[in-house]
Amino acid sequence: MLPLMEEFYSLQGEGFHTGRPSYFVRIGGCDVGCRWCDSKESWDAAKYPPVLTDKIIEHAASYPAKAIVVTGGEPLLYNLDYLSRGLHGEGIMTFLETSGSSRISGEWDWICLSPKKDAPPLPEIFEKTNEMKVIIEDLQDLEWAEENARQVSSGCILYLQPEWSRRSTAIPVIVDYIKSHPKWKISLQAHKYMRIP
Ligand code: SF4
Repeated sequence: MLPLMEEFYSLQGEGFHTGRPSYFVRIGGCDVGCRWCDSKESWDAAKYPPVLTDKIIEHAASYPAKAIVVTGGEPLLYNLDYLSRGLHGEGIMTFLETSGSSRISGEWDWICLSPKKDAPPLPEIFEKTNEMKVIIEDLQDLEWAEENARQVSSGCILYLQPEWSRRSTAIPVIVDYIKSHPKWKISLQAHKYMRIP
């Protein structure tokens, strides 16, 4: 069972799979505590009654995309082996969004790591990361981005994403930086511009 905060069918709005239809599962509970978190209501897992994992799998399988984004909160606070195996058993591609601050579990077709200064990733996740997305508020965050970029594999796709409430000042900083550091790309929260979940 997992404390399910919400589940919905939408399009991925961030990073490499932007535009891809997916079923989203937001699991309650996070111990990272980012000041600018846009889902603070997810932090307290006790607010979300545990739901049978089989039900989550059944719901995900009922949508045509056959792709799921497991997010939070911090989903790796829970062992995700049963969920991810069950999803694979239904032919569903599994995508994980995590800060990497807890031990990794589960079978993933794609891992998006978003490292947070308040609870840095455990070293074990870096080699498994397909995509790293660093949230940028100001220039200092670029140093944090580079620190993490040194630890992922050479094939990992690197994104800088403006913190939404600071986007008017963060976007020009990111654009300038990427032009001189071309291993990075920008990720925008397209779902917010489209006003979809
Ligand atoms: Fe919010 Fe994610 Fe940070 Fe947790 S890790 S506080 S859910 S932004």
